[in-house]
Formats: sequence, C-alpha cells, structure tokens
Amino acid sequence: RKDVGRITTGSKAFDELIGGGIETQAITEVFGEFGSGKSQLSHELAVTVQLPEDKGGLDAEAVFIDTENTFRPERIEQIANAFELDLEEVLNKIHIARAFNSSHQILMAEKVNELIQEGKNIRLVIVDSLTAHFRAEYVGREALATRQQKLNQHLHTLQNIANTYNAAVFVTNQVQARPDAFFGSPTKAIGGHVLGHAATYRIWLKKGLAGKRIARLVDSPHLPEGECVFKITTAGIVD
Ligand code: ADP
Repeated sequence: RKDVGRITTGSKAFDELIGGGIETQAITEVFGEFGSGKSQLSHELAVTVQLPEDKGGLDAEAVFIDTENTFRPERIEQIANAFELDLEEVLNKIHIARAFNSSHQILMAEKVNELIQEGKNIRLVIVDSLTAHFRAEYVGREALATRQQKLNQHLHTLQNIANTYNAAVFVTNQVQARPDAFFGSPTKAIGGHVLGHAATYRIWLKKGLAGKRIARLVDSPHLPEGECVFKITTAGIVD
C-alpha cells in the first residue's frame, strides 16, 4: 500500500505499539468495557488529524459518526487547547453525523463520499460506536446472521472510503471485560473473507491502576502483539 498516512494518538507509547499512529487505508477497531477510553480516543483523533504532518497529523478534517450521543464539544475544546489550536477552526473541521439507528448509520457512512466530493479534506472517519445500534436492533440467535451481514456491508463502505481517499477509519466496540471478548469482533471477519487485504487493527483497551489505561494490540496484519500504558487527562491522551 502506497503513501500510508498516520495519525497520532497523543501518546508516544501508544503510537509505537501500532506502528506510528492510526493508519490510513485501514480500519482500526478499539474494543473495551465502558469507561475504558474508546470515546476519549475518538475525540483525541478528531483533533490530532488536523495537526500538520510533522506534529503527527494529516492537516485534514474528520467525520464523527456519533451513535450514542457521546460527542462532547467541551472535550474537543480541552484537547484543542492542549495543542494550542483555535477551537472554532477545530470544530469546523469535525463533521458530526448523529446516527439514530443502524440504517441511518450506514447511510451516514455512505454520505462521507459526498462530503469529500464537495471538497472537504476528510482523512479520518470515526464511528463511535460501531456496534451499539446493530446489537440493539438485531437481537437473538436468529438475527445474528442478518446483523453480521449488515455490519459487513457497513464496514465495506468504510473500507472503500479508507482506500479511495487514503483515509483512516476508527471504530469503537463496547464489550464486557472478559477474555472471550476476543471472539466478538465485528471487524475481524472482513480481514480474511470479504475484503481480502483489508488491514484491520484491533486494540483492546483496559482499565489499569491509578487511572491508567492499557492498550493491547491483538490483531494486526504485520505488527507483533504487544501492550502499552497510557493516560487520559484533561489535555487528552498522553504517555
Ligand atoms: P468509553 O468510550 O470506553 O466508554 P470514555 O472514552 O468515555 O470510555 O472514557 C471515560 C473515562 O475518560 C472516564 O472514566 C474518565 O476517566 C476519563 N475522562 C473523561 N472525560 C475526561 C476529561 N475531561 N478529562 C480527563 N479525563 C476524562
């Protein structure tokens, strides 16, 4: 893959774990229990994608598909301040799309193409949460196949955006704090079967001691498994 871009998480250790930051032309899934930092990372990346390349950004804009009303402008303000960026400019470069149900969420992802064709320099698409609507709407055993099929369709749209526009896709997935959470991946199936060479990174976020967080890379096309520690502060994600 040519000209892969990277977006900093704000933490050096975290960036190193994933090969230098969140990659373009790929889908990165973070999963973890409630409060593990999935939304915080989403907010952080919506700001850092705007940084110049020598600061870890792509000098670009973000789409934030918000499915559970987690987007907080106040949080963006704190992070923008930490990077000494102008809040109004930063907020103008984050295109919020509230998705009311899974069909709407799928539609919102498709609409990203239009935004880019209108001239917006979008290099990051965040979906927080990828899975919540699908889980709520497709309940029970007999709905599982349909749910996965709909999710695959959605992920396919997202992967196409990533490839076509050299953009990063960052999705969150809430799971219980159990080891068998590994088997609940919505994105894993696409790596091998549907999309061939789609690079999908999976990162498990865990709560550590004294407010620390642990990120574990559990699935990557070409990087070793590993862990790092980071912190969530008012200024965003830090080492
Ligand atoms: P998830 O999306 O995985 O459920 P979040 O990303 O919302 O979790 O993380 C929530 C945690 O982030 C809180 O428990 C708190 O520790 C931390 N946090 C939230 N807001 C702030 C803030 N403004 N400053 C510092 N830490 C914060």
